[in-house]
Amino acid sequence: MNRPYNFSAGPAAIPEEVLREAASEMLDWHGSGMGVMEMSHRGKEFISIYERAEADLRELLAVPANYRILFMQGGGLGENAIVPLNLSRGGRIDVVVTGSWSQKSQKEARKYGNVHIAASNEADGHTTLPAPSGWQLSADASYVHACTNETINGIEFHELPDLKRLGSNAPLAIDFSSHVASRPVDWSRVGLAFGGAQKNLGPAGLTLVVVRDDLLGHALPACPSAFDYRIVAEHDSMYNTPPTWGIYIAGLTFQWLKRQTENGLTGVAAMEQSNIAKAKLLYDFIDGSQLYVNKVAQDCRSRMNVPFFLRDESRNDAFLAGAKATGLLQLKGHKSVGGMRASIYNAMPLAGVQALVGYMREFERTQA
Ligand code: PMP
Repeated sequence: MNRPYNFSAGPAAIPEEVLREAASEMLDWHGSGMGVMEMSHRGKEFISIYERAEADLRELLAVPANYRILFMQGGGLGENAIVPLNLSRGGRIDVVVTGSWSQKSQKEARKYGNVHIAASNEADGHTTLPAPSGWQLSADASYVHACTNETINGIEFHELPDLKRLGSNAPLAIDFSSHVASRPVDWSRVGLAFGGAQKNLGPAGLTLVVVRDDLLGHALPACPSAFDYRIVAEHDSMYNTPPTWGIYIAGLTFQWLKRQTENGLTGVAAMEQSNIAKAKLLYDFIDGSQLYVNKVAQDCRSRMNVPFFLRDESRNDAFLAGAKATGLLQLKGHKSVGGMRASIYNAMPLAGVQALVGYMREFERTQA
């Protein structure tokens, strides 16, 4: 069976190999007589799944030894509260607003600290990235928040800001929900990273947090114990029952990632090459066409989420219907932005982007 190509922004396509492996183990994981959903999280079977997933992720993302990997719940929006509960100490929080998700983060953080907007691209409709050299960073910020890939607006930081060089000693906290594992991370510039799993890692319900040791142990008294990073870390993400199924599927996805190769590279570095090639193919086509347009500045276009518009918007429904009939699913843009959006995460093969470009070219030629 040839599955259609699925361009959903999340929950998003999962590598077919992973789905097949999970299906084959659904009723009996490795001769244990149990499916993974039915296992105690404290049993040796699940502990082995958990330990391998953590070790593989640490290797894939080159997470240094002084950072803890936490598997939590609550999603990106949950972390919008959990991060300030743990890091703000009730003080100042600098936020860089680059789109819908960082906008939501700054609003939520106001409940727990004194939010200062260090930079914003609101004036240009979230289509450019404010240059870090112009950020108004506070001298006393407890941390600086940035969303390094804005899923709705299609904006990505291609390089993480170096806060020290900008004169700030605050740790950088990044929301990397929608580009985690699509490229390497420079941990020397990051104190904490969080992301929901449902785009690049696995199913919804699992939230990944990578946090530097010195940022543990500062939670506000009101912070729920299950969301206190120090407590979660001390219990190896098992203070409460972790999202076992999510960790298992993410673990299979990490193994799949480790098998990827491209231009002599492996793992996340290989994935990055493939993501660059996929994004270039799609953006080049859009820029060269008369019908389609992407409004994001060239230097910060997301490799993962490509929003685009038909210059004749009355053709939108026909475009989507034709795409579906061709086996290209979930291309409708986010309701707040309109138009179309192609999310081309790790699990989207180059052939899927080629099929999309082929369809778009044909639609422009025959129907527009
Ligand atoms: N941050 C980003 C960058 C996202 O893309 C999303 C989900 N689309 C969220 C946060 C919110 O995640 P959740 O729905 O898991 O809370």
